[in-house]
Amino acid sequence: MSPNRDPLNVVIVGGSLSGLMCGIALKHAGHTVTIFEKHGNERQSHMAGVCLGPDAEAFLALHDVHDKIFHHRSHKVQALKDDERTQVFVKARRDVTNWDTLYFRLRSCFDGYVSSYYPSPPHLRDSDGIVTYEHEKEVLSIERWGDSDKMDLSVLDRRTGESAHRKADLLVGADGPDSFVRAKYLPDVGRRYVGYIAWRGTVPELEVSEETRQLLESSVTIYMMHRQHCIMYIIPGVDGALEPDSRLINFLWYTNESSEALEDIMVDGFDGHRHHNIVPAGRVREDVWRARLEHARIAPLPRPFLEVIQKIRSPFIQVITDVRSPQAAFEDGRVLLVGDALSLYRPHTAFSATQAAFHALMVEDFVGGKISLQRWEENILRYSDLHSSQSILFSSFYQCSMVAVLLAGFRYFIAVLIGLGRGGLVRSAC
Ligand SMILES: Cc1cc2nc3c(=O)[nH]c(=O)nc-3n(C[C@H](O)[C@H](O)[C@H](O)COP(=O)(O)OP(=O)(O)OC[C@H]3O[C@@H](n4cnc5c(N)ncnc54)[C@H](O)[C@@H]3O)c2cc1C
Repeated sequence: MSPNRDPLNVVIVGGSLSGLMCGIALKHAGHTVTIFEKHGNERQSHMAGVCLGPDAEAFLALHDVHDKIFHHRSHKVQALKDDERTQVFVKARRDVTNWDTLYFRLRSCFDGYVSSYYPSPPHLRDSDGIVTYEHEKEVLSIERWGDSDKMDLSVLDRRTGESAHRKADLLVGADGPDSFVRAKYLPDVGRRYVGYIAWRGTVPELEVSEETRQLLESSVTIYMMHRQHCIMYIIPGVDGALEPDSRLINFLWYTNESSEALEDIMVDGFDGHRHHNIVPAGRVREDVWRARLEHARIAPLPRPFLEVIQKIRSPFIQVITDVRSPQAAFEDGRVLLVGDALSLYRPHTAFSATQAAFHALMVEDFVGGKISLQRWEENILRYSDLHSSQSILFSSFYQCSMVAVLLAGFRYFIAVLIGLGRGGLVRSAC
């Protein structure tokens, strides 16, 4: 795609964090943007933390039209010992919000969507492009439109069952780890199970003891066991509330599980069907959760972790998977892959939202003619390689043998060297 001065007609497949960030950046650059999202406007998150790293901060500094603080700030990651002493792992700022709060904020910035989180639509900028968020619309196929420069999409309206064709100058695949767009071009690249799962849930901060609240107030806290670990931290509560009597404690316990064990753990508590990536809150079988609580007592988890896990009312289970696409641009740059559709990292570096922001800023630079397609793809793939190998290193450290840690460390070291050799690892240096 050549440097473009005229507004483009951009279609984004997927209206979650990545799609919205790309949409906002392109709207602010004056382009016409349509997002197709196969689910409804009011989504239910996993009510888990979403960490805002450096690229997310850079994105928000440029494109956020709200100024209300919407994250809880931790100042360190600490390990809790068996005797309940703490040891600081790393002193670093971590701003954590939750998915709903970020999603509704981005919706407000994109199409002025009114929610209980952001009840007043923001003002439009004169230079803003026209945007539409079409929910319950599933993209079923994408093709090059004859010999033209355009892409042709077939879109199903899930409410009426009718399909329609739409044209786009640029198509952005922001359709998540099971990406339909990626599968069209790279059918052999898919999500894979990496050997462990997370037992998770949230508890209102008000319901736990003063000691536990103090432990978590400004720290992400980890408890390490042999090839498993638990982690807890504070996230905003309902409607993004940040007051201490409204916030939630986010709890996760990562355990290695064989594929055979998953066949049992992932069975739905109501209808008995086998979930693949998540057993949602309210669907975990009672006997499965009781057994987990028993493991917690026998281990035993240290008092604060035991206290929180016992108070989880609606646990859910997440299978940890990853995927990394070796290619990010298709159809001579008319189709771009972003977000988890390009790279799904392991969760320990909390980098997905940050990656989404980096991709949005890079798409903005490419569409605005600041970088070539080749440079765009190089930057995207280098970032993906670096952060995916970093997340594998962390995951090996927590869940695997020392040999696996050394191998992952070596791979990460190479990715850093390549990144430095090719001119920087952050957007400002790309
Ligand atoms: C409802 C929801 C809740 C989440 N909650 C959390 C959370 O609490 N904590 C956390 O860390 N991460 C959460 N995530 C994941 C998080 O959004 C991602 O890890 C990351 O931030 C990057 O998002 P993404 O937009 O690339 O991918 P995703 O968030 O996976 O979004 C992909 C979107 O594409 C849509 N889509 C897929 N195929 C099509 C199609 N053919 N046509 C139209 N639309 C399509 C999906 O419905 C989805 O909304 C959640 C994701 C979703 C969708």
